[in-house]
Amino acid sequence: MSDKTRVQCSDCIHFRAAPHEARIAGCFKDTNMPGRQKEAFLDEQQVPGDHEKINLRGDCPDFEARPQKVSLWKRLLAS
Ligand code: SF4
Repeated sequence: MSDKTRVQCSDCIHFRAAPHEARIAGCFKDTNMPGRQKEAFLDEQQVPGDHEKINLRGDCPDFEARPQKVSLWKRLLAS
């Protein structure tokens, strides 16, 4: 598989980076998480999936691209 077709977890909506987005960096897609807490107040105890293992070959079937950030210029011009 070429690098152009590989997907990066950092570009995926299911990925959360530590320490700002989560306690442990990893994949927060429900089906990839070994320890999923349903209650919001237990969010700190969430155990994410091992994104490096799941997406080892860059071909994760659960990849969903993060929306592109619109530049400040585009937002200013649109208003
Ligand atoms: S393992 Fe798959 S679903 Fe999880 S963050 Fe990486 S690309 Fe996304």
